[in-house]
Amino acid sequence: MDLYSGYINKLIEELAGLPGIGAKSAQRLAFHIINLPKERVERFANTMLEAKRNVRYCKCCFTLTDQEICPICLNEKRDRKTIMVVENTRDLTAYEKTGKFDGVYHVLHGAISPMLGIGPNDIKLKELMQRLQEDVEEVIIATNSSLEGETTAMYISKLIKPTGVKVTRIASGVPVGGDLEYIDEVTLLRALEGRVEL
Ligand code: ZN
Repeated sequence: MDLYSGYINKLIEELAGLPGIGAKSAQRLAFHIINLPKERVERFANTMLEAKRNVRYCKCCFTLTDQEICPICLNEKRDRKTIMVVENTRDLTAYEKTGKFDGVYHVLHGAISPMLGIGPNDIKLKELMQRLQEDVEEVIIATNSSLEGETTAMYISKLIKPTGVKVTRIASGVPVGGDLEYIDEVTLLRALEGRVEL
């Protein structure tokens, strides 16, 4: 039964396709948007378009940035010999907020998941291996402690070991199945300090 106009339905559908937005929230948001002044909606739509057009991957660590090389990779004070591998930019931000990690990052943009059909070639793993050709002393694997995160950690450690670069895994201070971005800074720091060699 079509209760709303086609345009409203389309808007609800788009919103419901966003993560964490259920059918009810999508409806509420759709009506909220329709009731906003036209200028606000235009600004909102343009902000989305501009972000999409201008945000790209850092050429070095693959985090999302406005520039060719992100501010962290550009920072001379960062220790380029220590690379922390994370699943996404949100996890990078979580560690960055602790202010205690002075190395650089590598963002995989996902984790290996045979169940979802995501293999090693679907994440930025080749790119990580290329970075190891420079002078790198340690790779800290900070993927989530989910099944996918652990699978990815094991895979990466097997890949890196023959190169002689030290591989460590953040400690289990991070709860099993926990998403890094939701974990408080103290726990993140403890996990980093208690990392173990693989
Ligand atoms: Zn970067």
